[in-house]
Amino acid sequence: MAYSARLKAHADKLGRDVKIALVGAGQMGHGFGCQVDRMPGLSVVLVIDIDPVRITNLYKDLGVTDPVISDDKAVIVEALNAGKRVGSTKSDLVAELPIDFVVESTGVPEIGAQITYSSLLAKKDVAVLNVEMDVTIGPLLHKTAVDNGVIYTVCHGDEPIEAKVLVDFARDLNFEVIAAGKGKNNPFEPLSNPDTVRERATAKNMNPKMLCSFTDGSKTMTEMVALSNTTGIPLSKRGMYGPAATVKTLQNVFAPVEDGGILESKGVIDYCTGDVAPGVFVIVKSDSPYINHEMTYLGMGAGPYFALYRPYHLASIEAPISVARAVVDRESSLFATHLISEVVAMTKKHLKAGDKIDGIGGYTVRGYADIAADARRDNLVPIGLIQNAIVKNDVPVGTLLTYDDVVLDSNSLIVRLRKEQDEAGLTYAN
Ligand SMILES: [Mg+2]
Repeated sequence: MAYSARLKAHADKLGRDVKIALVGAGQMGHGFGCQVDRMPGLSVVLVIDIDPVRITNLYKDLGVTDPVISDDKAVIVEALNAGKRVGSTKSDLVAELPIDFVVESTGVPEIGAQITYSSLLAKKDVAVLNVEMDVTIGPLLHKTAVDNGVIYTVCHGDEPIEAKVLVDFARDLNFEVIAAGKGKNNPFEPLSNPDTVRERATAKNMNPKMLCSFTDGSKTMTEMVALSNTTGIPLSKRGMYGPAATVKTLQNVFAPVEDGGILESKGVIDYCTGDVAPGVFVIVKSDSPYINHEMTYLGMGAGPYFALYRPYHLASIEAPISVARAVVDRESSLFATHLISEVVAMTKKHLKAGDKIDGIGGYTVRGYADIAADARRDNLVPIGLIQNAIVKNDVPVGTLLTYDDVVLDSNSLIVRLRKEQDEAGLTYAN
């Protein structure tokens, strides 16, 4: 940590700032762009979004009033080489442009896959704010980065990585990890869709699909699967428990059943509702009576289970730490080498043969966390592959979709990459 002086030294050595391309200037991308551009040695020189207004709005907040906006590769290259700030609506160019670092924050698994995979093959470092993509093809992207001598990382600021920081801390101190997870921010409305949340989304100036992915649980399921895959800690069960808990009761709730809690087994990932949000937690135990005595003395409770708790996660605002870590330490903040948990797709309404499935945060399906071995046994489709799939037969509401229920979009890159990952034996540990 303490990257600011080292970033400055890096820029001095390079003779210029690290040139960052940001793809996706929605709420997350805008926050990221505003923050990263304020850090020494890092400059956003290219912003790509399908909506040019979002590009100029971001540049306005960076104090740039005259960005070059173009979809012509030659014009873009010339402007970048002349040290100008550039905007474009064409995301498929990014891998070929003279920039050092690509940040992907579209939130769409398919677009994320296109940008990330092509950029890694072009030997550019890539940081993503797209955990939906990572839980689907993360192992393949990690291997592609290693093979090309570059960094692939999921960004700091979201719950999976900030909870993993607590897990690493607990493990480094030789505590037993009993449970780890997050507090869920929004009320759980599993059948919500963009219409049912539209009013709330408008009031919060949010995209209704994004808010819906929070309320229907897709986001929490995805984040906890990412935490599971990157720590090697299994989910508590298919769908997890998601009990109510408070900061004060965390260690009582996430304790084994025989000690009055809800857990059938120790060492699991789960989430809770209540005032723990927007924080993350790990429940620890020590086998040393003296350490437990000291923990109690330090105000951590009566034991034997203790909650370590970080009360916040700063999302896009602290995401640039992962860029700094990649640039200065050549280190990925968060990645999985294989999947032990999966996010599968549960129907939110009765689907009929011939129906087309929309994506995460839409009307048809929600993300559901599953143990990878069970998902594999039951032939379940990862939700990251489901956009534009066609339903083959009628499926009632509340059903986990199998590969036999749908025809996946054959033009989708993420579908192809997932197949490659499966066939290369990268998806699951051997
Ligand atoms: Mg989050």
